[in-house]
Amino acid sequence: MQGLMMDYQLTLRPILERAYRFYPKREVVTKVGATTHRYTYRDLYHRTAQLAHALGKLGVRESDRVATLAWNTYRHLELYFGIPCIGAVCHTLNLRLPPDQLIYIINHAADKVIFVDASLLPLLEKIAPHLKTVEHFVVMTDAPLQTSLPNAHSYEDLIATEPTHYDWPDLPENTAASMCYTSGTTGEPKGVLYSHRSCYLHAMSVCFGDGLGMTTNEIMMPVVPMFHVLAWGLPYAATMLGAVQVFPGPHMTPRDLVGLIESERVTLTGGVPTLWLGILNLLETEKFDLSSLRSMVVGGSAAPQSMIEAFQKRHNIRVVHAWGMTETSPLGTVCNLKREMLDLPEEEQYRIRAKQGIASPGVELRAMDEDGKEVPWDGKAMGELQVRGPWIASAYYNDERSVGRFDDGWFRTGDVVTIDDDGYIHIVDRTKDLVKSGGEWISTVELEGAIMGHPGVLEATVIAVPHPKWQERPLALVVPRPNAEAPTKESIIAHIAPRFAKWQLPDDIVFVEAIPKTSVGKFDKKVIREQYKDYVLP
Ligand code: AMP
Repeated sequence: MQGLMMDYQLTLRPILERAYRFYPKREVVTKVGATTHRYTYRDLYHRTAQLAHALGKLGVRESDRVATLAWNTYRHLELYFGIPCIGAVCHTLNLRLPPDQLIYIINHAADKVIFVDASLLPLLEKIAPHLKTVEHFVVMTDAPLQTSLPNAHSYEDLIATEPTHYDWPDLPENTAASMCYTSGTTGEPKGVLYSHRSCYLHAMSVCFGDGLGMTTNEIMMPVVPMFHVLAWGLPYAATMLGAVQVFPGPHMTPRDLVGLIESERVTLTGGVPTLWLGILNLLETEKFDLSSLRSMVVGGSAAPQSMIEAFQKRHNIRVVHAWGMTETSPLGTVCNLKREMLDLPEEEQYRIRAKQGIASPGVELRAMDEDGKEVPWDGKAMGELQVRGPWIASAYYNDERSVGRFDDGWFRTGDVVTIDDDGYIHIVDRTKDLVKSGGEWISTVELEGAIMGHPGVLEATVIAVPHPKWQERPLALVVPRPNAEAPTKESIIAHIAPRFAKWQLPDDIVFVEAIPKTSVGKFDKKVIREQYKDYVLP
């Protein structure tokens, strides 16, 4: 119809340019050893332009895949923009994956160039002979190049003499911008391809007050790796707003992270629960000034209510629980309390905050039962969560396993949920992790959350083990908290018993030094199930 709005294409270029135009002096900080590397959005812009020229000289063309094997750093941020803004695809590689999965992913994506942090060279050198499509390796280091990789270049040498401005192409918004593979807990990882449009809209949703509420005055530190769902879109959102970004590099211990929050006065950060549990444990024994922190976003696995309460009550830190997946960019739901909930008793508020929240504006959700019928929003009926929206995958990248994961335009998440009458979802479990006991389902997530509320417990996970009579029964693995009174089986069962029916309680509890984790820091239930498949319950 005549007189309609502009058909403006939503791409990453204006996000980068906005930071350069309006916030040229704002800093991007990266921890490098005992010191920090600091530069500004003006530097970021110029170096990204130089990178774009260098990519062209390496022969990178539109829709070519260019991979990164890197920690959270300023150079990784340059790649986040430089690669997509010339129309190529930034493929972030998970540096914690086993070599055979990395080889599979790189060959499947047909990456043309790989950018690698010098500290990760040994990993890449080992797998390089198996890579079929890679033409160049670019090493990100300030030191002279030292590698056995063929066709290797130094990042700094490559960009040094390039012009600091680039005539960015006007890309259609549905151009592919970046890709991540799922962490592959079952079978080979699957590729998810994000578009400029999906990244742009997702970044806006991070900024919504009802999203993560990021503002220009934020000092944002993504602890979630830049290879895990684009660091949850936090770097794109922060650049869009010109917010200060703080990158921990490879320095990921609780002490490093707490030190950075304290010294850089970080206001917003995000990562998986196991990481915050480690930080919580450190805060119990040592004093740090974390008063700058207004919000700590937790997702990737369920945040135990006890953890949310401990941060709030003992350290005045607000934990915001969110749910998402590689396939959902990832922000699908965020748990912010509605105004009318602020009058509820405190305990009730914490109970809601331990849920995963309501759909982010822009995302639609529903839960479906096994017969394909939508389950009621009563907080009780369980169903598989399905979502759709502008930043939800429509298929996997060149993968037949897309079949069966999409239902009439909805993405089937594989997560079992209940939805209450306020619309708050509660993740009960992954379909494959639920314990099936005598025809009834037991949620491992709920048991874990409750056990981690015991003061003597640092980490806990629950798996199903085969049982001759009941088919499956729950077994808990528990890591005791250092410096606390050692927990006993009896004390743990007594602690959680009021919240569960007797038949839902674990049949046994095994105390362990550590729980195996996936490449993105979640409890690795596939590995744990394998380890305990012959475990004989008492
Ligand atoms: P990934 O693609 O590696 O990010 O894994 C996505 C999966 O992590 C989801 O399907 C959920 O099973 C799980 N997940 C993510 N966020 C949460 C959360 N807040 N609570 C419980 N599980 C979560």
